[in-house]
Order: sequence, then structure tokens, then C-alpha cells
Amino acid sequence: MLSNEEMEMKCPSCKKNLTYTVDQLQKGQSIKCPHCGDEIKFEESSSGAVRKLEEKTKQSLEDIDKKITVTMKK
Ligand SMILES: [Zn+2]
Repeated sequence: MLSNEEMEMKCPSCKKNLTYTVDQLQKGQSIKCPHCGDEIKFEESSSGAVRKLEEKTKQSLEDIDKKITVTMKK
């Protein structure tokens, strides 16, 4: 299980790196950017990327970043 795997992404708002876990992604939890305070919600479409991630192991960690779409809660 990779659910506790920490991953990095860039905040769509302030462009700084923030970390999240696969577990948060799978549960569709929103995360709060520690830099600008914006809330980022993972869309359902990312769950497919997670499945792919689990199949492929760590090599896809960089790949998944490009597939995840995030929406800003404003
Ligand atoms: Zn931010």
C-alpha cells in the first residue's frame, strides 16, 4: 500500500511546493496550502491516477503529478 506515501505538488495558487499523501488523494480530501492558505480539492478523476500509481509503483510518482487536476475552493 502506498497510502502513506508523501507526494509533492505545486500549489496552483502560490506555486510553492506542498506535500500530501496518497491516502488524502484517495479519500478525496481537500488539503490546505500551508503557504497561502488556499484549499485544494482533489477531483474524482485523480482516483484513476492513484490506481495507476499503485500498479506501477514509485516510478509514476512524477507522472501522477501531471495527471492530477485540482480545483480551488473559493
Ligand atoms: Zn498556496
